[in-house]
Amino acid sequence: MIKAQKGTKDILPAEVDNWHKMEEAALDVFSKANFREIRTPIFEATELFARGVGDSTDIVNKEMYTFEKSERSLTLRPENTAGVVRAYIENGFSRLPQPVKLWYKGPMFRYERPQAGRQRQFHQVGVEMFGVYEASADAECINLAVKYLNALGLNDLEIELNSLGCKDCRDKYRTAIKEVLKNELPELCDDCKYRYEKNPLRILDCKNESCKKIFEKKEIQEVIYSDYICDECKSHFEELKGYLHVLKIPYKINKLLVRGLDYYNRTVFEIKSNNLGSQNAVCGGGRYDSLVETLGGAPTPAVGWAMGMERLNSLIPPVVQKNIDAFVISENMAEALKLTQELRDKGKSVEFDYGARKFKKQLDKAAKTANYAYILLEDELKNNTVTVKNLLTSEQKTLRRSEI
Ligand code: ATP
Ligand code: MG
Repeated sequence: MIKAQKGTKDILPAEVDNWHKMEEAALDVFSKANFREIRTPIFEATELFARGVGDSTDIVNKEMYTFEKSERSLTLRPENTAGVVRAYIENGFSRLPQPVKLWYKGPMFRYERPQAGRQRQFHQVGVEMFGVYEASADAECINLAVKYLNALGLNDLEIELNSLGCKDCRDKYRTAIKEVLKNELPELCDDCKYRYEKNPLRILDCKNESCKKIFEKKEIQEVIYSDYICDECKSHFEELKGYLHVLKIPYKINKLLVRGLDYYNRTVFEIKSNNLGSQNAVCGGGRYDSLVETLGGAPTPAVGWAMGMERLNSLIPPVVQKNIDAFVISENMAEALKLTQELRDKGKSVEFDYGARKFKKQLDKAAKTANYAYILLEDELKNNTVTVKNLLTSEQKTLRRSEI
């Protein structure tokens, strides 16, 4: 038997109502803020992610599904920011009135070790906002994430916030981190040794317990908590915090939060839940003012986030499957088909028994699936009537066909 691939899952009809709920809430909440949906291709040139996501990241190094076709290297998208930025540039969105505000949803692919909350094909919903340097855009995006979670009944998730500063701040910080970790290097894990050369800030993101222990040393903590960001970046961050205060959005500063992707500057944030186990982040995002330029566009500030829909799904209560409105009961299939369609045309969800089984069997089926039975037996057909039975109360009434 051929089975679904490791790290992939069928979304079955019993769960699909939850997915509709997540998708409808996204359309509703983001439309109110005038964000428009964009749908970009599932695969892109490998180069887009190598340049866009960054070739020192785990995603590009270990997690991409890459294949060759007609001598071109293609990759199933591991995230959608790079694709949306490509579309922004390619479709000349910089000529539109700014800001350009977009949202997306859809499958992403990463070759990771499957475990609870981690799949190889998973789904993200996300927003991207182009054209605004001011912290009001960062506040708008974080607010949208919160409102989206609220719309799904999630009110107590924790927001962690940090500022990585601009390129200058990061260079300064990177040098300081490298300096203070120089003597610890032999003790760090292999990943961190690699990051030390390629992307030292990512070291702080290490989940390895022995590395985390090392970071607790006083002199390292001093560097982590030092005030390395410049005055401009500082005031941008203060403005954002002020806006979040006004919006009554609680947050926690996490100086270790650097995020896995290379393109962030200034604001980074994650939203976490205590009900998710070890993969506890539902949402990650931040500002990426240099990405549009990196990918060949004009310098354009941007900020956005992505949420994992499987993790989101595990936090929201299952939507109770509803009965259909009506079940047409008849031993005359032509009449059943006709009445069924008549009722559907009136906007109702309606089924009938395709096998023309005995009345009792059909009634049993109706009672299990529908709110009302529309009964067309010999008497009804002869008199041009229909008997309507409320399947909850068993009340019933015979109507003329024209009265339906
Ligand atoms: P993590 O630390 O969990 O690996 P990440 O930093 O790689 O997350 P992002 O690239 O920021 O994740 O993606 C945003 C969100 O997408 C995550 O917070 C998570 O909810 C979800 N996500 C990421 N990778 C997976 C995966 N393999 N399976 C399911 N959900 C995922
Ligand atoms: Mg990851």
